[in-house]
Amino acid sequence: MTEATIQQLAEVIGGSQRLVVLTGAGVSKESGIPTFRDALDGLWAKYDPTQLATPRAFQANPKLVWDWYQYRRELVGKCEPNPGHYALAQLENLLPQVIIVTQNVDGFHQMAGSTDVICLHGDVRKDKCFANCQGNPTYADVAQLTWDKESGPPLCPHCKTAYLRPDVVWFEEALPQDALYRAVDLSQQADVMLVIGTKGAVYPAAQLPRYAVEAGATVMEINPQRSDINYLATHWLPMPSGEALPQILDLIRKAKMA
Ligand SMILES: [Zn+2]
Repeated sequence: MTEATIQQLAEVIGGSQRLVVLTGAGVSKESGIPTFRDALDGLWAKYDPTQLATPRAFQANPKLVWDWYQYRRELVGKCEPNPGHYALAQLENLLPQVIIVTQNVDGFHQMAGSTDVICLHGDVRKDKCFANCQGNPTYADVAQLTWDKESGPPLCPHCKTAYLRPDVVWFEEALPQDALYRAVDLSQQADVMLVIGTKGAVYPAAQLPRYAVEAGATVMEINPQRSDINYLATHWLPMPSGEALPQILDLIRKAKMA
């Protein structure tokens, strides 16, 4: 049953001209990164993430929010891309177009070698000016800065008045517009969309498979649990992506060589 589904996915993906892959928290979780809520253990257990990951929380207590993200960055720093990330990156050698649209902020797709990654929710490895003083986003490299790390976030080196903050999308914030527009556009042009490890519950990301289906694409899902967008999928592979994707990659590679 599963074998047959893996074969079917390999055939459809292998024949794709314009593949879009949508990835969510399940993919990061396979790398050992705790989900947003799971990350609140130890010292942080008493906080509600919806109370920490907002612009208002940052304005009220920049040090608290900054320290929490430093903690989360340490957790991410102890993990690494899994075989699924690497298999997706390898697909670029076999197909004309592979676009990754991700809800994850860990940067693991890029680390694994994917070259076209749309980060819908930002990138936790980067920082930007809270005021975006030079335009949205105004990035700064904290590795180049010296400041009293006990005092909280550093000041933006451009305006020297606003704090730097992690380049992630917080509650109450809009998604980065360029990333979202491009993701919608590519979803509508895709011939195949592979949805991996997302619950399909966070909008507007969850809308992308719908756009793809409406435009005539084949949508397929790899996810141990059935997601909210499962009904859109012609195929569902209930497996961890780190196990499934290397097998699919192998089958596509063999078919292309035959
Ligand atoms: Zn600034």
